Amino acid sequence: MMNVDEFTNIELLVLDVDGVLTDGRIILSPSGEEAKVFNARDGAGMKYWKRAGGKLAIISGRGSAAVKIRAKELSVDAVRLSAKDKLPALEEVLVELDIPAERAAAVGDDLTDIPVMRRCGFAATTPDAPEEVRAMADYVTHLGGGAGCVREVIELLLKRAGKWNDILSRYFPAGREQRR
Ligand SMILES: [Mg+2]
Repeated sequence: MMNVDEFTNIELLVLDVDGVLTDGRIILSPSGEEAKVFNARDGAGMKYWKRAGGKLAIISGRGSAAVKIRAKELSVDAVRLSAKDKLPALEEVLVELDIPAERAAAVGDDLTDIPVMRRCGFAATTPDAPEEVRAMADYVTHLGGGAGCVREVIELLLKRAGKWNDILSRYFPAGREQRR
């Protein structure tokens, strides 16, 4: 594992969906529609990330209308669905957003995410990810997929970049000691 203190210049957060933005369960209706359960604190974190000047990308191996809606709600800058091979999708996104791979951070939870995680400057995974994924990640979250792992990574990166206090100041206008 690398020293997380190094990662102060991340501009793009690349997120997997199933097992990262969700707990990995896929709810299928008889008509074949997919329902997903997202985490509101992840969503808020994604808004903080954007507010701090960061960009967001979603790269998923599955196609899902629910993901499209969620991505739109959260102003995700680049969305690649049904990406059977995720690395070419990442390369496209990096070109589109004009961000070097070293300045991208990836969050993935399975073997299919490894090429993307290796290519990015920083890689995080979830505590229940396969051993091989946890072994190559720079950071393993405490919170699970769909349970706040994305928020955890965003807070980590914003704190390392010295931007977290700016986010907090909006909610503590009189300072953090002030109780009311
Ligand atoms: Mg996944």
